[in-house]
Amino acid sequence: MKKTMPNNGQFELITLPYAPDALEPVISAQTIGFHHGKHLQTYVTNLNAILADGKFAGKSLEEIVSVADGAAFNNAGQILNHNLYFTQFAAPKQGNAPIGTLAAAIEKQFGSFDAFREEFEKKGAGLFGSGWVWLSADADGALHITQEGNAGNPLTKGLTPLLTFDVWEHAYYLDFQNRRAAYLSALWQIVNWQEVEQRYIGR
Ligand code: MN
Repeated sequence: MKKTMPNNGQFELITLPYAPDALEPVISAQTIGFHHGKHLQTYVTNLNAILADGKFAGKSLEEIVSVADGAAFNNAGQILNHNLYFTQFAAPKQGNAPIGTLAAAIEKQFGSFDAFREEFEKKGAGLFGSGWVWLSADADGALHITQEGNAGNPLTKGLTPLLTFDVWEHAYYLDFQNRRAAYLSALWQIVNWQEVEQRYIGR
């Protein structure tokens, strides 16, 4: 997977590849403002303060997530998770569905896109507390749907993360309040499957 390197020892808040209101009505500009502009910014600020002692000098974000624990892992993990989350979206599209080799792999593994979607939403809705539901690929290209609590990322299990839905309440509370399942089922309209397929091909 692509490596994210620090710039002069500091990681930076990612620039979104779309306007703050581009994902409406699925994700509002207000949610983007808080989620990207405040929550993610805080993880970046916290990690940069932790890195000031030089312990992870020259390491990529992905390497830090693989080897760190405690606050370094939590903040680096949340940056990586949110970078993957925010860059996998595009404006809402009717009939949005996987493409190319990833579409074929999803059909092979889960029977159909609908069956995959159902299992992914079920794992997202069933995760107790804060965390993430992931689609990832192993070295053979086989696909896995997993739940990760808090800042967890499947790369710590040797998998390549492809797609993730954030189920921390901050991700959906302004737009959906307590209705996590409604948020999860709405997100399919804004998945940028070109981007997700590129992660699969480039693993
Ligand atoms: Mn989040």
